[in-house]
Amino acid sequence: MIRTRFAPSPNGPLHLGHAYAAIVAHDLARARGGSFLLRIEDIDGERSRPQFAEEFLHDLEWLGLSWDGEVGYQSQRLADYAAAAERLKAMGLLYPCTCTRAEIAAAARSTGPEGPVYPGTCRGRDVPADGAAWRLDVAAAMALAGPLVWTDEIAGEQQARPDLTGDVVLLRKGLPASYHLAATLDDARDGITLVTRGMDLFSASHVHRLLQALLGLPVPVWHHHALLVEPDGRKLAKRRGSPSLDDRRRAGEDGKALAQSLRHGDLPAGIALETGQADAQGVDRAP
Ligand code: GLU
Repeated sequence: MIRTRFAPSPNGPLHLGHAYAAIVAHDLARARGGSFLLRIEDIDGERSRPQFAEEFLHDLEWLGLSWDGEVGYQSQRLADYAAAAERLKAMGLLYPCTCTRAEIAAAARSTGPEGPVYPGTCRGRDVPADGAAWRLDVAAAMALAGPLVWTDEIAGEQQARPDLTGDVVLLRKGLPASYHLAATLDDARDGITLVTRGMDLFSASHVHRLLQALLGLPVPVWHHHALLVEPDGRKLAKRRGSPSLDDRRRAGEDGKALAQSLRHGDLPAGIALETGQADAQGVDRAP
């Protein structure tokens, strides 16, 4: 039986793009007699706010989406992330890094799907671990894991290329696990068999496939769906004025009717569904 999830980060309100993502995950589960879980990815330090997470539950109910079981909160799972990071450290695959974003941008020799590719400045250097971020030595990890493949329901079988993203951060400076580590561990812990998320996270799945191999985790199938975009082709974002779901809810809009329109591709004026290539260039995601 399939199991999908919607995993929003409570660092801002949900907008139409999130509604679309939640509907895709929910409807795939329901259409195949499976279950649909809700997980709140609330480990982003001060940017994570409980009040946003509370609104998310109301937003989903308003859209007519019901989830199965208890809501999962990443903030309650920190011990799992720390234990996995310790295992990777013991395998010699993590190294501390004190580089700032500006230093990385200045030193990077290439740009990958998540921005400037970390040029490995701190790899093999004697860096004080205190207050450092910990990065995955991707070349060493790939050598250990051997060639890996993964399957996207839409794009087909993929050769895992975590090297395109470079040595990603797995433990963030002063914060618990990064998105990559936490999401991979949680999908395994939650028994997710079909990871549904936007095409903008396609490249992350290469990294997650590698982590699954290193940590002996089950391998799901992925479903990277199209993104709702603004007329300039950029992802919807609250900061560019796209109304949030709670604005719409409070204004008395009918959430179930909105969900039906999104299902039928009947989109508000100026918004399009970008069904382009599996190409995540320009993602503005923090590691
Ligand atoms: N928390 C992530 C986000 O809001 C979701 C990532 C995922 O679905 O894997 O973009």
